[in-house]
This record gives sequence, structure tokens and C-alpha cells, in this order.
Amino acid sequence: MNNKDKHRYSEGSGEICGLTYDLHSHSTVSDGTLRPAELVKVAAASGVDVLALTDHDNVSGIAEAEATAQEQGIRVIPGVEISVSWNGHTVHILGLQVAPENEVLLQGLQELCEYRQWRAQEIGRKLHKKGISDAYEGACEQATGALVGRLHFARFLVQHGHARDVKDVFRKYLVTGKPGYVCGEWAALEDAMGWILAAGGLAVIAHPARYKMTRGKLRRLIGEFKELGGRGLEVVSGSHSRDEYFTMARHARDFDLLASAGSDYHGPDNPWIKLGNLPELPPGCDPVWKYF
Ligand code: AMP
Ligand code: MN
Ligand code: MN
Ligand code: MN
Repeated sequence: MNNKDKHRYSEGSGEICGLTYDLHSHSTVSDGTLRPAELVKVAAASGVDVLALTDHDNVSGIAEAEATAQEQGIRVIPGVEISVSWNGHTVHILGLQVAPENEVLLQGLQELCEYRQWRAQEIGRKLHKKGISDAYEGACEQATGALVGRLHFARFLVQHGHARDVKDVFRKYLVTGKPGYVCGEWAALEDAMGWILAAGGLAVIAHPARYKMTRGKLRRLIGEFKELGGRGLEVVSGSHSRDEYFTMARHARDFDLLASAGSDYHGPDNPWIKLGNLPELPPGCDPVWKYF
């Protein structure tokens, strides 16, 4: 049985569209471990036909990914995953099919990268107070690309024996209430939506089931997102359970939003998530790739 058969719902999704899509992935430009070119090669070897490169708050890997995609005979959708603060939650908004040279988008992302730089120094200072020195320098060494994030700190802390694995680092140091957590302000939802729309992109709420919001609050977010021009929900995500695919599919239908599917691949060191290894969208979903 191949992976697709394994994931095929017994209900049958109706539409078997022939192409394999993976619309959420990261390279070394943000917190992935493969360079954009390597990522595209792994995608092609994994049977992906259409891959969205959606690095956090940065689009500088897209040119390299597109060039390799052409060599490999697959398609890259230029994308980005924007960090947003919304009512006390950090929410990630995907921009798919964005124009990576758009000035409005680039200016917005530039501000976020500056904030990330400040936050990284702050995380370093906080960890230093807890007796962990050089974490900022260590994280910067891990970050070979355009920005530094918590996953770079996590990799450094694992390598230096402060935790078993990256999950353990997040739990012990990097989430709310823990010594290395910095509560900061990302983009406002309205601003992030403006940047994506200015760049001609299609906005999708990334992994909506991951935010630990009540059903009412999540629907408030979806409502505001839709009002601001949002088009889709990431129904199938590498970080959603099977039940969550169906719950998110219902929200997408209720709000008349498109459904997207993405692994949120960060590299081969997380063996649980593979490129393109995603189940079909639940029945009744309107796939976002209809508009590509
Ligand atoms: P940042 O945007 O720098 O705050 O970091 C968020 C990123 O950290 C996410 O995109 C994931 O790649 C990673 N991350 C967040 N929570 C966890 C976790 N519990 N285990 C492993 N990685 C995580
Ligand atoms: Mn990440
Ligand atoms: Mn995310
Ligand atoms: Mn992601």
C-alpha cells in the first residue's frame, strides 16, 4: 500500500485530482534544515508535484526554490508564513502565490525580521540569567538563513545537553511562563493581510487547530480573517489529527473558505513529517489549488 492509499478516507473524498500538493514547508531561510534547492529536490523525489515554500516572515528562498523546481520538473508556489499577534495568541497566516518582490510585502516582513532579531537577543539574555550562556550566539550559528527563531535556540540547547529533544526544550524553556519565553508583538492581523493582498497572494490560516482557542474564539478569528480578505483554512496539516481535519473542514464550509493542505515540513530530522505525505481533503472541501 502506498502512503496515499493508506490515508484515503473510507468515505472517499470524491475528487482524486492526480497531482500531489504540499502547500506549507520551510527551508534554511527560516527554521528548516534544508536549503531551498535541497528542499525542492527532496519534494520531487517524494512525489510532490506542487510545493509551496512558506518560510517564516521571509521570501528570500523563493528564487532558488523556483530555479531548482524548473530543473526537477515540479512547480513551486511562492509563499510565506507570517507571524501575527491576535487577541493574545500568536497566529500564523500563510500567503500563497505572493509576488516575492512586492515592496509592501518586503517592507512588512523587514519589520518582523528586525523584531525577531531583538527577540532573539532578549531570549539569549533571559537564558543567560538562568545560567545558560552563549545561547544567542549558538542560535545565530544554527540560523544560516535570514532570520533567527525559537527552533534555532532549541537545536542549540539540545546539542549542549540542556534537553532531550526540541519538544523538550520548548516545554522547559521557550513557551509562555518558561525562562526563555519572550512575550512580544508580531504583526497585526490587518497588516499581515494587507501585505499578502498587496503582493497578489491568497491568504490562508495555517494549522488552525494548533492555537488552543475555544471554538468560539477560533470562529471569531476566522470571521475577522474573512472580513479582511482571507480566502482559506489549512484543513489538512502535518500538525492536525484526523478529527481536526474534519472539524476544520466544517469551519471552512461554514465560512465559505477554501481548504488547503500542507505538511509544515522543517527537514529530515523530524521523521514524523514527510513532504507530500498528506491525506486527501475531507469530502465537501473546496481545494485552494483550484485557484492556482
Ligand atoms: P518562532 O516563530 O521563532 O516563535 O518559532 C515557532 C516555530 O518553532 C514553529 O514554526 C515550529 O517550527 C517551532 N515549534 C514551536 N513549538 C514547537 C514544539 N513544541 N516542538 C518543536 N517545534 C516547535
Ligand atoms: Mn517553524
Ligand atoms: Mn506555523
Ligand atoms: Mn510552518
